[in-house]
Amino acid sequence: MIFNIMEQLVRATVPDFMEKNDICKCEDCFEDVCALTLNSLPPLYKRLSDRQEIDVFRQSTSRQLSMDINIKIINAIDTVKKNPRH
Ligand SMILES: [Zn+2]
Repeated sequence: MIFNIMEQLVRATVPDFMEKNDICKCEDCFEDVCALTLNSLPPLYKRLSDRQEIDVFRQSTSRQLSMDINIKIINAIDTVKKNPRH
C-alpha cells in the first residue's frame, strides 16, 4: 500500500495544536485545518506494508520536517479560526 506520509503526520499532529488553540474542535474544522496544511506541504509518498510502520516513520521524522509541518498547521489553524466554514 502507498500512503501519503505527510497526510498521516499532519492528521496525527493537528489535534495537539487544536487542543492548545482557541478554535472550534468539530470534525469540519479539523478537516479544514488538515486540508489547508496539506495544500501548503509537498506530498511524501511511501510504500508501507501496514500502518504500524507509520509510527516508526514518525519517530524518525527529521526535526526540520516537523518544524515545517508545525508552522503550516499553526497558519492553517489561524486561517480556519478567522473564517470557519460554519
Ligand atoms: Zn467547527
